[in-house]
Amino acid sequence: MYITSLTLQELREEVRQIGWEPYRADQILNWIYKRFVFDFEQMTNLSKEQRAFLKDNYLIHSLDLLNVVEGGDSKKFLFRTKDGHILETVLIHERDHLTICVSSQIGCAVGCTFCATAKDGLIRNLRAEEIIDQFLQVQSLTKERIRNVVFMGMGEPLANYENVRKAVEIMVSPWGLDLSKRRVSISTSGLINQLKRMAQDKLMKELNLAVSINAPSQNLRESLMPLSKTNTLEELLEVLYGFPYPPDRRIMIEYVLIHGVNDTVDHAKELARLLKKGRKKFKVNLIPFNPDPELPYRRPPMENVYRFQKVLWEEGISTFIRISKGPEIFGACGQLRSKRFVLR
Ligand code: SAH
Ligand code: SF4
Repeated sequence: MYITSLTLQELREEVRQIGWEPYRADQILNWIYKRFVFDFEQMTNLSKEQRAFLKDNYLIHSLDLLNVVEGGDSKKFLFRTKDGHILETVLIHERDHLTICVSSQIGCAVGCTFCATAKDGLIRNLRAEEIIDQFLQVQSLTKERIRNVVFMGMGEPLANYENVRKAVEIMVSPWGLDLSKRRVSISTSGLINQLKRMAQDKLMKELNLAVSINAPSQNLRESLMPLSKTNTLEELLEVLYGFPYPPDRRIMIEYVLIHGVNDTVDHAKELARLLKKGRKKFKVNLIPFNPDPELPYRRPPMENVYRFQKVLWEEGISTFIRISKGPEIFGACGQLRSKRFVLR
């Protein structure tokens, strides 16, 4: 049993059942999530017998770290699950803080044509403890505290709602990693039903929401993101307009710019038209496509990227450009090619 699959409440119940005082659960989670101590032997406020019992019955790490690759402003961590799948986590050094980009699934069923993760379809959901362990292992190898999490690694987080929710609960609870809800971002390709569920979920609706739009028209979006046949752009925008954010909070609209596919001035104008009504509700992140030898697309020249941004600016829509340094080694954190190079 992974102790990192449990909330404080659940662990208190567990320890109560084995006849310990419930506060033992608080002590154990304090070691793990506050002090990043992962060896039960070192949990010195527990008795020797208790430590031995924990060691015999519980595990903390659910992933094995295989490799760390450094490049530019990021570090990529390759992990292997106990059943042999490879996943990837990226630590990004931003100006004054660290952001960890975590994976939520092995593969992805959404099938976006520009995304390396889509290649093999969905293999399986990650469990809460596998999401949490990405954070724990990366944090224990990092001096500074990591305070920002983005669910932009492999997989569609809202298609793995329960496990992602549990991991988020551990991340934002005072007894857990104690991160601010505003510093945890869920990036989704726009699953309508799951977004509606999120909008009604006390815990999830306060997170940062990022939605990958990637195309300003239904036709083009369908060709890039097959899920949008059933999760249409129109319905998606409707859900986003109705998303229960306070007036000062904005939803991040993500747009991967692909050369000659969705990067022209006309596309920008169309996107501006689409978002205009929500000028105060949205901000836009432009992500220049990260090339991959197996994908038939190219990154646009920077002048197209700036041109696109200018059109949106002129319509009063705040628009940022997200480029990670060292693109030869790392994709955007959403573009993961490691699986291939490990298996070959
Ligand atoms: N499944 C979720 C989160 C993971 S993908 C989603 O789609 O939002 C995270 C981001 O990476 C998405 O915005 C996606 O559009 C982007 N992305 C995927 N492949 C990319 C590529 N080759 N280059 C640049 N961005 C990419
Ligand atoms: Fe899945 Fe996101 Fe990749 Fe689309 S972009 S295939 S939703 S991981």
